[in-house]
Amino acid sequence: MSADLQALYRDRVLEHSRQPCNFCRLEDADHVVSGSNPLCGDSLQVYIALDGDRVRAVSFEGHGCAISVASASMMTQMLEGAARADAIETIEHVRDMLLASEGDALDADLADMSVAALAAVRRYPTRVKCATLAWQAVHGALTEDAQTVTTE
Ligand code: ZN
Repeated sequence: MSADLQALYRDRVLEHSRQPCNFCRLEDADHVVSGSNPLCGDSLQVYIALDGDRVRAVSFEGHGCAISVASASMMTQMLEGAARADAIETIEHVRDMLLASEGDALDADLADMSVAALAAVRRYPTRVKCATLAWQAVHGALTEDAQTVTTE
């Protein structure tokens, strides 16, 4: 990854962590999931509101490091309005991206999106769980109605 691209990605992560999108409670949520990453101390509450078979809105609250918050913020934007099945697929895509080795090319579907900025964490294996936390929480809620999710 070029130094310019890395700087751009770092800025995007910082922006999202400083001013996270959808950082609020959703009163009419259909799913509320508590996600924790004990390794880092990230603890997020994720809310998902469905409209039939569509994800109407996703929001989150809680506290976590910059990476976990930025990742959750990007996630809320990406999943809003998605069909449930597409949301699950997107989450699996992102997870695969985060778990891939550093040198692997980004999936074309994701390369242009701001979430690609998260791929930079692949250089820091201990931070990968911070980045996957919120995604894992929504995946757990949508696939098995999970109410708590932990990265451990
Ligand atoms: Zn963290």
